[in-house]
Amino acid sequence: MGIEREEPSTNPHADRYWMRRALNLAHHAEYLGEVPIGALLVRDDQLIAEGWNAPIGSCDPSAHAEIVALRRAGQAIGNYRFPGCTLYVTLEPCVMCVGAMIHARIARLVFGACDPQRGAVSSRVQLADADFFNHRMVHSGGILPQECGALLRTFFRRKRARGEVSGDACTSSPGGGPSTSEGCYNRHHAGEVPKRS
Ligand code: ZN
Repeated sequence: MGIEREEPSTNPHADRYWMRRALNLAHHAEYLGEVPIGALLVRDDQLIAEGWNAPIGSCDPSAHAEIVALRRAGQAIGNYRFPGCTLYVTLEPCVMCVGAMIHARIARLVFGACDPQRGAVSSRVQLADADFFNHRMVHSGGILPQECGALLRTFFRRKRARGEVSGDACTSSPGGGPSTSEGCYNRHHAGEVPKRS
């Protein structure tokens, strides 16, 4: 069918290691007053680039952690496509970020907590598996979901306590709160690899 697809090797220990590093980046975003989400790109067990959520500080609505990491990766390797790379992010990506990852030819996406409000991999739409793309990205969810989700829930709880966020009006955030269930991803996906060929 002419669809580009890579089958990168997976290693659960490596996934947890890189997700912990992405969590550190999420903590850094929180320190800077941003919604705590972190992302990084890895190829052949080597870190290519890091990013953290920064739309407020950079006055850039597209500055989600994933986009920041992709931009830095492009600068680091001098290309706009990153075959063979795995992108780790603490929260299930949104529509914009999944689209950017497809454009970048990311081989594999690994995320932490599911985002029941805006998640575009498994929760709300399964954009990465859409048949109109000419690139297939392998994806896995539910890596360290408790840690990734707890960071966000605590962040919004504090903001609500300070009156900075009302009800579910959490813009650029997982409004209803991230799902930290190990099975949140697998409820939507029987396997990690999209079934289309
Ligand atoms: Zn996004």
